[in-house]
Amino acid sequence: MEAHQTRREFVVGACCVAGLVALGGVTKAYASDGTLLRPPGGQDEERLRALCIKCDRCRSVCPQHCVEPVSVTEGFLEARTPKLNFHRGYCDFCDKCIDACPTGALVAFNAEVDKIGVAVVDTEKCIAYSGRTCVVCQNSCPYEALSFDEAGHPVIDEDACNGCGECVMACNVNVNRAFDGSFERAIEVHAMGV
Ligand code: SF4
Ligand code: SF4
Ligand code: SF4
Repeated sequence: MEAHQTRREFVVGACCVAGLVALGGVTKAYASDGTLLRPPGGQDEERLRALCIKCDRCRSVCPQHCVEPVSVTEGFLEARTPKLNFHRGYCDFCDKCIDACPTGALVAFNAEVDKIGVAVVDTEKCIAYSGRTCVVCQNSCPYEALSFDEAGHPVIDEDACNGCGECVMACNVNVNRAFDGSFERAIEVHAMGV
């Protein structure tokens, strides 16, 4: 019986793996590793996964269009739960997604103390690291979380940054590389703990 159950589990597992391979070969089978950037109030990953019914209301009410569904390739269990994409828009903490959520998967969020994540500069891509001047990200930040050091390189104040994504939207690298279809930015918001 035990051996039979083991065989059955093996068959089920093999079917799941085959299904995931069929979905693209790079699908993550299990829970998020914490890299998903959730809408405000969804930072408790366990709570969000337990309560989110994938109804899409948070995405549909977002006036900034920065909420999108997680794809199956990003996490099988999280597929169609909400994540933020700051290449589409930034979060102005209007709370519309929180108000629209019917299950409490998104809870009250205070932009002065809570964080979606924290901005991180990619020194390989940042224009300011190539000897040229660029202060676009600093000018875009509504929370005075960005400054420049003596070398002219952007510095993030991790205490002041709440991960709103406005600097990501503003980053000049997107413009400079638009000719090749690149959507890269030199600054991205990383989820907390990543
Ligand atoms: S708080 Fe407003 S802008 Fe931010 S993700 Fe929710 S609906 Fe969009
Ligand atoms: S509104 Fe709430 S339950 Fe619906 S998809 Fe968004 S987080 Fe999930
Ligand atoms: S994400 Fe960017 S714009 Fe928003 S608070 Fe952080 S550094 Fe400022």
